Amino acid sequence: MEKVVIIGTGCAGLTAALYIARANLNPLVLTGLMPGGLLTTTSIVENFPGFPEGIDGYELMTRMQKQAERFGARVQFATVESVDLSKKPYSLIVDGEKVEAETIIIASGAGHRHLGLESEDLLEKKGVTYCATCDGALPMFRNQPLVVVGGGDSACEEATYLTRFGSVVYLIHRRDSLRASRIMAERTLANPKIKPIWDSVVTEVLDVKQDKVTGVRVKHLKTNAESTLDCAGVFVAIGHVPNTQIFKGVVDMDENGYISRKEGSQTNVPGVFVAGDCSDHVYRQAITAAGMGCAAAIDAERYLAALSQ
Ligand SMILES: Cc1cc2nc3c(=O)[nH]c(=O)nc-3n(C[C@H](O)[C@H](O)[C@H](O)COP(=O)(O)OP(=O)(O)OC[C@H]3O[C@@H](n4cnc5c(N)ncnc54)[C@H](O)[C@@H]3O)c2cc1C
Repeated sequence: MEKVVIIGTGCAGLTAALYIARANLNPLVLTGLMPGGLLTTTSIVENFPGFPEGIDGYELMTRMQKQAERFGARVQFATVESVDLSKKPYSLIVDGEKVEAETIIIASGAGHRHLGLESEDLLEKKGVTYCATCDGALPMFRNQPLVVVGGGDSACEEATYLTRFGSVVYLIHRRDSLRASRIMAERTLANPKIKPIWDSVVTEVLDVKQDKVTGVRVKHLKTNAESTLDCAGVFVAIGHVPNTQIFKGVVDMDENGYISRKEGSQTNVPGVFVAGDCSDHVYRQAITAAGMGCAAAIDAERYLAALSQ
């Protein structure tokens, strides 16, 4: 039986793995389909402390894995298909095999909701992005017109943040008013660099032929009229989807699927802890996910210590 199984090898899972391994608890760490997590999909990470020149996302995650393995973490390329947390030891079905565990740390992350356009996928990292805090300061976006898609708090935050870098920020929203909280909506609309484009959706990101973002094709939902807008970046902010489906009905979560924390990193199930973006709809950064991974590891370690007394 495993003492600790960690689900996920993003910043949260690998930081948890490092701490658990250093406590001599020899964790089993399961990668899922994206070893290294979301950060492996970005080229340069400029805001992870300790790397003044920035660091390639893939390299950072490879280093995190090596650091955890150095102390005994066993990283396995495998996906958790289902869990049974109704009795101890807990059991997980991992690529068809049963694994039993005393404690589990869920660090399964969250994906960005996509517009669902082929051109969006083809131009990801070539001007299409899902995180203004991560990418807004990149040289390619400086003093250029930028587009934010969405109308909630995140879209408003992204748009406001991007006004520091872009020459103008078009906020494209499918309705005729923002869904964001009132104060956030008022502040956003009062910003002279933000130009809302109401009742509209992006139907294509341009220009796949040039292999970079040069603009968007926009459709007005009331008139069906199509137009194009020049821009150097498209920031999609239409929500996130936490990777928590396998815990539905078993581990408490909010209406959007983010796992709820009771005390520290503890979930409603004793001995099951959570860390990172699958439990965080507010910060969603590498460093916050890593910090939560550390907290979950310490909580799991203390839980196991209390059991053995
Ligand atoms: C393009 C891009 C650029 C970014 N740039 C930055 C940046 O510059 N700075 C910054 O701070 N943040 C950045 N972020 C955000 C950052 O990547 C996330 O906040 C961080 O990765 C969250 O870490 P996590 O461990 O919670 O989840 P993730 O990194 O999403 O990792 C989740 C892990 O869980 C695994 N998993 C999921 N389901 C299962 C399962 N059923 N079984 C087993 N494993 C499973 C996945 O395979 C993956 O390994 C960026 C995000 C994106 C998309």
